[in-house]
Amino acid sequence: MAEHDCIFCRIAKEEVPADIVHENEQIVAFRDINPQAPVHVVVIPRKHIASLAASSADDVALLGEILKAAKEVAEKLDIQASGYRVVNNCGPDAQQSVQHIHFHVLGGRRLGWPPG
Ligand code: 5GP
Ligand code: ZN
Repeated sequence: MAEHDCIFCRIAKEEVPADIVHENEQIVAFRDINPQAPVHVVVIPRKHIASLAASSADDVALLGEILKAAKEVAEKLDIQASGYRVVNNCGPDAQQSVQHIHFHVLGGRRLGWPPG
């Protein structure tokens, strides 16, 4: 998929509006349009990578930046003490629906386990 057709690339470039809660040079984090918990934020790299499976050794530092941003989002939205879950859906069986790597940060309620 070309980057100009990718909804998350368009959000990162602010071509499509989103409720951005955190950003830096490499990362953008915004509230999910269909929240599954009181706090539901999607953390993405500005770089278009289709999925975790499509990431390479060159992306290791960037993947670390995503997790660091997830932690910062949790602190900013005040769920660091109550707890939260960071989820990456990769590929068809995980029902990845947007082909731009992203990590969900979910919290603000007791989360069930195992996931469906
Ligand atoms: P996935 O199912 O691929 O793991 O997660 C994609 C997530 O992106 C879904 O939770 C979906 O609600 C969210 N999403 C899809 N399109 C948009 C959008 O245009 N804006 C926002 N804020 N979230 C979106
Ligand atoms: Zn993209």
